[in-house]
Amino acid sequence: MFDVLLSEEEKKLRDEVRAFVRDKVDRTLILKMDSKDKEYPSEFVKAAGKENLLGLRFPKKYGGRGLGWVSEMLAVEEVGVLGIALDCAYSLPSIIGEGIEKFGTEEQKINYLLPTLQGTKIGGEGLTEPRSGSDFFGTITTAVKENDTFILNGEKRFVAGGVGADYFLIYAKTSFEAKPHESLSAFLIDRDDGVRVEEEYELMGCRGMGAARIVMENLAIPEANLLGKLNGGSDVFNAMMVPERLTSASGAVGMGVAALEIAVRYAHKREAFGRAIRRFEGISFKVADCATELDAARGLIYRAAKVADTGEWCRKEVSQAKTFCTEAGFQAVSEAMQILGGIGYTDVYPIERLFRDARLATIWTGSNEVQRLIVQNEVFKEILSEDRSLKRDVELDTPGAHKTTEKVYTEDPKKYYPDKS
Ligand SMILES: Cc1cc2nc3c(=O)[nH]c(=O)nc-3n(C[C@H](O)[C@H](O)[C@H](O)COP(=O)(O)OP(=O)(O)OC[C@H]3O[C@@H](n4cnc5c(N)ncnc54)[C@H](O)[C@@H]3O)c2cc1C
Repeated sequence: MFDVLLSEEEKKLRDEVRAFVRDKVDRTLILKMDSKDKEYPSEFVKAAGKENLLGLRFPKKYGGRGLGWVSEMLAVEEVGVLGIALDCAYSLPSIIGEGIEKFGTEEQKINYLLPTLQGTKIGGEGLTEPRSGSDFFGTITTAVKENDTFILNGEKRFVAGGVGADYFLIYAKTSFEAKPHESLSAFLIDRDDGVRVEEEYELMGCRGMGAARIVMENLAIPEANLLGKLNGGSDVFNAMMVPERLTSASGAVGMGVAALEIAVRYAHKREAFGRAIRRFEGISFKVADCATELDAARGLIYRAAKVADTGEWCRKEVSQAKTFCTEAGFQAVSEAMQILGGIGYTDVYPIERLFRDARLATIWTGSNEVQRLIVQNEVFKEILSEDRSLKRDVELDTPGAHKTTEKVYTEDPKKYYPDKS
C-alpha cells in the first residue's frame, strides 16, 4: 500500500511488528485467554520484550529503541489486530514507562523501567477506585508519611494486568488541605510489599488481561518508592495519559482493521441472489465508510504522536484521537459483523470477540465523554485566546458585513436585567 504518512524506517518497523504478530504469537493463546483458561499472557510480554518490541520510544539504555511516538503507535495498531487483552499487555510498559522515565530516579528506572521493557517484570496501573473513575482527583486512597515510610490505605479497581503484576504504579492522597489537583502523589509498590489482589473481574470481552481489584491495608512502603514530587501526582498523571489514550486509540484501529479485512474477504466470496455480496451497495458502501474512517483515525493518531514528539502540550490532539479512533474501531467491527450476517455472530470468526473487546475502548483510559470535555475545553481556550496569530478574519464586525441593529446578548446580563436587590 502507498503510505505517505510513514517514513521508510517506520514502514520497516511496521513490517517487523506485523511479522512478529503473525509468526510468533500462538493463536491458541487468545482462545485460552478468551475461555478463561489463562489469567495473564506473561509469555507474550516476555516474547515481545525479547524482540526488543516493548516501549519502542524509550532510550536504549532503559530497554527501548529510542524511536518516536509514531513508531510506537503503529506497533500498537499491529498488535491491536489480536484484540484488546494482548494489546493492553503490550501497551502497559509504554504507559507505566512514561511515568517512570519522566519522573523516576535513576534507581527506579533501573529497577522498574528496564525489566519492564525487557518483558521480565510486569507492572499494573491503579488510578480507578470503587469511589472514583472519571473523577480521578476524587481519589480516596491515602498515603501518610511516617518517618522514612509511607503507610498506604485504599483500593484500586479494574487494574489491568493486576493478576500477573509484579508491581503497581498507584496514586494516593498525600495532602489533606490542598486542592484535589495538588493533593495526590504517585508511588511504585511491589506486590511482595503486601498488596492484596482481591478479585479478578468477569469481563464481557478483553478476557485474560487479569483485570483485578487490589487492596492496600496499612501497607508500609519505603519513601524511595515515591514517584516524582510529593503532591506532584497530577504531573505524572498528565504525562501518562498521553500513551494511555494513544495506545487505546491505536489498538482500536487495529481491531477495526482486522475486522474489516475479514469482512472484505468474506464479502468477496459469499454469494446471495446469484452474485458475491460485495456487489450490493448496502455491503460495499459499509466497506468504503469503514476504510475511510479507519484511515482518518490513523491520521489523527499520527498527528497527536507528532505533537507528542515535540514535547508540547498535546491534550486536545490525544483526546480527539482517542475518541474518534475508538468509535471508528468499534463501528468497523460492528459493520464487519453485519457484513458476515449470522455467522459473524458466532465464534466461527473472531469478529464476535473483537466486538466484545472493542466495546471497552470508548469507556476506559478516560471515557469518551471525558475526552469530549477535554477537547471542547481546549477548543474554547484556543479560539478565545488573545493571541492574534491564532485569529482568522471571522469577527462579528468584519468590514462590509451586514450590520444588524439587534442587540447581541453576549454582554453582562446584568446590563439588561439589573439586580433589583
Ligand atoms: C476491563 C477494564 C480495564 C480497566 N483497566 C484499568 C486500569 O488498568 N487502571 C485503571 O486505573 N483503570 C482501569 N479501568 C477503569 C476505567 O478507566 C474506568 O472504568 C473509566 O475511566 C470510567 O470510570 P468509571 O467506571 O468509574 O465510570 P464513572 O466515572 O462513574 O462514569 C460513569 C459514566 O458517567 C460519565 N461521566 C462521568 N463524568 C462525566 C462528566 N463530567 N461529563 C460527562 N459524562 C461523565 C462517564 O463517561 C460514564 O459514561 C478499566 C476498566 C475496565 C472495565
